[in-house]
Amino acid sequence: MKEEILGKKAIEIADMIKKREVSASEVTGLFLERIEKLEPELGSFITVCAESAREKAKEIDKKIDSGEKVGRFAGVPIAVKDVLCTKGIRTTCASKILENFVPVYDATVIERISEASMIVIGKTNMDEFAMGSSTENSFFGPTKNPWDKERVPGGSSGGSAAAMAAGEAPWAIGSDTGGSIRQPASLCGIVGLKPTYGLVSRYGLVAFASSLDQVGPMTGNVADCAAMLEVIAGHDRRDSTSIPAQRNEYLEGLTGDLKGMKVGIVSELSGDGIDEGVLRCFRLTCEILESLGVICEEVSLPNFEYALSSYYIIAPAEASSNLARYDGVRYGFRARDNADSVWEMYEETRTGGFGQEVKRRIMLGTFALSAGYYEQYYGKAQKIRTLILRDFEKAFERFDILVSPTSPTVAFRIGEKVDDPLKMYLSDICTIPVNLAGIPAMSIPCGLDDGLPVGFQLMGPALSESLILNVSFALEEEIGFDAKPQTFRA
Ligand code: GLN
Repeated sequence: MKEEILGKKAIEIADMIKKREVSASEVTGLFLERIEKLEPELGSFITVCAESAREKAKEIDKKIDSGEKVGRFAGVPIAVKDVLCTKGIRTTCASKILENFVPVYDATVIERISEASMIVIGKTNMDEFAMGSSTENSFFGPTKNPWDKERVPGGSSGGSAAAMAAGEAPWAIGSDTGGSIRQPASLCGIVGLKPTYGLVSRYGLVAFASSLDQVGPMTGNVADCAAMLEVIAGHDRRDSTSIPAQRNEYLEGLTGDLKGMKVGIVSELSGDGIDEGVLRCFRLTCEILESLGVICEEVSLPNFEYALSSYYIIAPAEASSNLARYDGVRYGFRARDNADSVWEMYEETRTGGFGQEVKRRIMLGTFALSAGYYEQYYGKAQKIRTLILRDFEKAFERFDILVSPTSPTVAFRIGEKVDDPLKMYLSDICTIPVNLAGIPAMSIPCGLDDGLPVGFQLMGPALSESLILNVSFALEEEIGFDAKPQTFRA
């Protein structure tokens, strides 16, 4: 049974369950068993929902047996980043301040996956409040990369990525503010997509930087990615930034036909600052694109140079405002009940409840927004943001999509960058421009460097998910990346 299920696409597992070749309970049991076996070493999950998942699976099996209607991907387990509110299941954002926070409602994305009768198997580990690129900034301890347990899985959705790479779940969900879906997908050898800003509802997604945050799929292959996007995308009136766009048939759009397409290779992201091994895999993949009848040419997006500095003003500014709500009154952790004043209680709660990186961002953001500095920092960063959007718009006049490596390096060692914020921030050099512009991008595995996965990033104009999925689909077939870490076979 194990061999039959593990390594199958999530959408194939859904078919098998519908045809009663395997039951939802058997599938759920198999993944729970793997989680139990692998977790002590990996730490992909903060909370495993064994009991509720088994119950839900039983319910679905009963319905299928009696011919009742079930959702589209009935009985397929899913791992969910612990930044999405799940009713009755604690949602921690990997922070001490939310250690015991149990939401009273489901995020829209959770509602949608429940309507599809998917089963939440657990809540995955992440950098605290999604601030980080390595999943080392978790109150619950770091996640290990299944390809090499001395290395990070990337972040901040590192738990979801590691769970996928280790075969602890057939598919997973992450969130991406500056690269947090794509960079860990790249470092763990899986597929990850950051949708157009506003395509997927943020209702019930714990806010980090609201103008940048998006929820998206993290999967083992492109077809699953398209299928999950169909489930979670679509207008939601509870999110005022949600796009009133029609739902798309992403899965049906995967034809693999790329004839006549023009692809721009971003010069700023495919030279200096990118490791040689990563560049080698990247260039080979561009050659594969050409062999598929695509025209590839270099293109310069000159304002990318300022993307990182602009992001590290805007994201912390928004975070400093969003995180003001954790005051020991309304949510989770409170330092002590007998403080002398409310100010003392706030101070002790926030000092004890937040980790170092989160505090650093709150301070940076508060400073950037303070009177006298606002124009100099925040105002300027916003202007750069517009220039970057213009760079993209101009490039998309000539090219259908743009490509680059997803991450400048393969997975780095645990501890290597965690004490040097600047080094850590540079991990997102290739992924951040996309968030600033609000456009969609995805990462697919394109090869191995020294036995570690390398990711290939595809970026498209707003609402071009069908297009980038289709190019990824064609590439996936041609690249034939089927390497798996040892842990996967355990
Ligand atoms: N690593 C980036 C940061 O720390 C991006 C994080 C994210 O996308 N959530 O801000």
